[in-house]
Amino acid sequence: PARPHRNLVYPSSMAPRHKHNSSIRIMQWNILAQALGEGKDGFIRCPLDALNWEERKYLILEEILTHSPDILCLQEVDHYYDTFQPIMASLGYQGSFLAKPWSPCLDVEQNNGPDGCALFYRRSRFSLQATAHLRLSAMMLPTNQVAIVQTLSCRATGRRLCVAVTHLKARSGWERLRSVQGADLLQSLRSITSQGGPSSPEEGAGPVPLVVCGDFNAEPSEDVYRRFSSSTLRLDSAYKMLSSDGQTEPAYTSWKIRPSGESCSTLDYIWYTHDALSVDCLLDIPTEEQIGPDRLPSYHYPSDHLSLLCDLSFREGPHMLM
Ligand code: NDP
Ligand code: CA
Repeated sequence: PARPHRNLVYPSSMAPRHKHNSSIRIMQWNILAQALGEGKDGFIRCPLDALNWEERKYLILEEILTHSPDILCLQEVDHYYDTFQPIMASLGYQGSFLAKPWSPCLDVEQNNGPDGCALFYRRSRFSLQATAHLRLSAMMLPTNQVAIVQTLSCRATGRRLCVAVTHLKARSGWERLRSVQGADLLQSLRSITSQGGPSSPEEGAGPVPLVVCGDFNAEPSEDVYRRFSSSTLRLDSAYKMLSSDGQTEPAYTSWKIRPSGESCSTLDYIWYTHDALSVDCLLDIPTEEQIGPDRLPSYHYPSDHLSLLCDLSFREGPHMLM
């Protein structure tokens, strides 16, 4: 059977008053490290064939190319240098990769190197102003989790945008560490986005607008989620706009069955500065029926996490009217 189609949804509050032609398309996706999927995860209901890299990589690339994001944020990338970097470069993207210091992929026999975060942007739309490769710390101690932060400049308007990608510590029992890692990332982001004055007449003074994509490994009830939604960076989570009340996260972004049982959870987020950016549209979340009884990954869905995708526009600030 064909792969279920995912629709772009235009939230009703985002009426046509917004111009969509200049919106920026963001994709967030934990693509499932090949070494972990085959060697560690124990997805007992996923056919082994569906995990074969030579086929699975095309499903991942197909999904990326179908939606053609301007900015692509990935986690669990253990095929950067031999696959994503060269292919994305040939399609006009500039990439950056940061491996986890002690990637669990390295414990798997015949691994392809460590997994890490990757950030790609479309070269025709943005130029790079600055890159920070961060190792997240907790109580001054370095942890095994990382983030990439890039400040981009929009070639057409000179407006700047700061983009971050991260993958926080997994598993239950580690809520406190995730919260502290989130606090550390927020601290770095405050410092990075507050640097420098306006770079163009179109850009107002004040902090650079921010987009943070990640597998936070945390449900919305967790402390790290509260930290992000209440931070002085004035961040909001894009996927809440998919709900009818505009206040509720999706029921799941990841759904898998391991020997320990079934896990259906909301772990992945696209955060954005809500007074500088607005959400024009979002890619909908497949239904339980579309995902199917064996859950993820599967022949239709190459990762145990769903991709998230939205179009963001710069809000027209008062300074724009002058
Ligand atoms: P995490 O706990 O953050 O998880 C690593 C990966 O495991 C994630 O990609 C996560 O996926 C996945 N995962 C989550 N739950 C499960 C599960 N129940 N079963 C299987 N996989 C799961 O790992 P850390 O970054 O803290 O790294 C821990 C590993 O690092 C150790 O296992 C060890 O191999 C290695 N290490 C080695 C050291 C050394 O000295 N050699 C030192 C420190 C660590 P998702 O995010 O999708 O949930
Ligand atoms: Ca995983």
